[in-house]
Amino acid sequence: MSERREPLPTGVHRTSSAAETEALAARVAAALAPGDVVLLSGDLGAGKTTFVRGAARALGVTGNVTSPTFTIGRRYEGRVGVSHLDLYRLGGLDDEDPALLADYLGPERVAFVEWPAIAEEALADAGVVVAARVALAHAGADAREITVTPG
Ligand code: ADP
Ligand code: MG
Repeated sequence: MSERREPLPTGVHRTSSAAETEALAARVAAALAPGDVVLLSGDLGAGKTTFVRGAARALGVTGNVTSPTFTIGRRYEGRVGVSHLDLYRLGGLDDEDPALLADYLGPERVAFVEWPAIAEEALADAGVVVAARVALAHAGADAREITVTPG
């Protein structure tokens, strides 16, 4: 990960392909530093995982970046540790091991969280710095409206 943090590309962006969404994600990634957490919202198929893939690539992850299926998250090693969490199937955190999220967070990692709503409180309790929020919405066919706001 580069020494210098680029400015976060805040605001509303419109992409017309998965590749364009990945390119926007790379710009967001350039604004991140280890320890940062990015929360992603949007309907199924809006492009959250596509966005995380683009960001992970930009952070030096070379393997496949796919949705976590049997676990809540995956960890990758790029130029920085990258975690990808998808909390869609988790009903709540009350019945879960408190270490569940901790496995994926840390000062040396950047973490991307899909469906973060149920974990917002736990993340705040863990002292997590939300660096950015990314809201993705369908805008017809392959078009997406992607809003990037600071944490
Ligand atoms: P989510 O994680 O939000 O459920 P995915 O990233 O898994 O969404 O899926 C998005 C799907 O939409 C992928 O098949 C992707 O190729 C496709 N797609 C088409 N246009 C776009 C776009 N502009 N941005 C992101 N994904 C797009
Ligand atoms: Mg997904």
